[in-house]
Amino acid sequence: MPAVPRYAVFGHPIAHSLSPRLHALFAAQTGLALAYVTLDATPAAFASAAREFFAGGASGANVTLPHKSAAFALADVHTSTARRLGVANVLTPLPDGRLEADSNDGAGMLADLASGCGFDPRGHGVMLLGAGGAARAAAFALLDAGVSRLTIANRTPARAERLAELLDAPPRVQVLAWEQLATAGVFDLVINATSAGVQHAELALPASLVTPHTFAYDLSYGPAAQPFVAWARAAGCRVASDGLGMLVATAAASFLRWHGVQPDAGAALQTLRDPPA
Ligand code: NDP
Repeated sequence: MPAVPRYAVFGHPIAHSLSPRLHALFAAQTGLALAYVTLDATPAAFASAAREFFAGGASGANVTLPHKSAAFALADVHTSTARRLGVANVLTPLPDGRLEADSNDGAGMLADLASGCGFDPRGHGVMLLGAGGAARAAAFALLDAGVSRLTIANRTPARAERLAELLDAPPRVQVLAWEQLATAGVFDLVINATSAGVQHAELALPASLVTPHTFAYDLSYGPAAQPFVAWARAAGCRVASDGLGMLVATAAASFLRWHGVQPDAGAALQTLRDPPA
């Protein structure tokens, strides 16, 4: 009997990850047999742990904090998206033995903005809060999707400036100091790509950023997204969403990459949000 293909998500910490549950849901939907586990590796141990995993015949891995840069460095081949970002969240061994790195965070966010929120970024003005790894993926994806204006505000302004330089789209990209948010005007979409919620830190945001037409989207999910979503609702946004749908969309994209089968991301998201009794 052929061995069941093995997959994992690497992170530190990682026990909280929903990825094994998502891949099990997708496997049940599509009738595929697979094993998907969490693997905790410290930054010092990640490269050797991942090499050992693939040397043992594993068929793919997702990678999350704090290993996305190390995953990029580990790979032999990089998709154009991963190369542009310098990070990876999907590792796939190729038939010739080389390891491929891809990043699907930005595409996952766009997919959830479209299917979960009904938002098409084309021609819209976006406020991006944060300038870390997730913000970088979001920024490239939003520019590719045709936003008319991307304004980046970050607690550490130099990091926002560096992201703007990397994006290299001066007419459409603008950097604002956090103190300027109150006079920044209004936006069609406000994205929280900071990790403030994860760290239980308060994010002081002015209601003047939004109108009743504004969509608000937090890349975090669960309790970490609650303060931003509550702020957006209180400020009167049209839609206020967390990033659980983005996580499901990125998992679905990994599943498609590895198995060549498109799972039903909407049904999996529904199961996570509203588990059967
Ligand atoms: P990084 O550590 O790379 O970046 C963190 C960002 O948050 C930086 O811009 C940092 O600013 C800012 N920040 C941290 N604390 C505060 C604070 N108290 N006030 C204001 N800004 C703050 O993290 P990532 O970019 O990788 O992740 C960001 C968030 O996105 C996380 O919550 C993560 O869970 C989520 N995420 C969700 C995904 C999904 O699938 N839904 C996928 C990837 C990420 P500074 O530069 O000043 O330090």
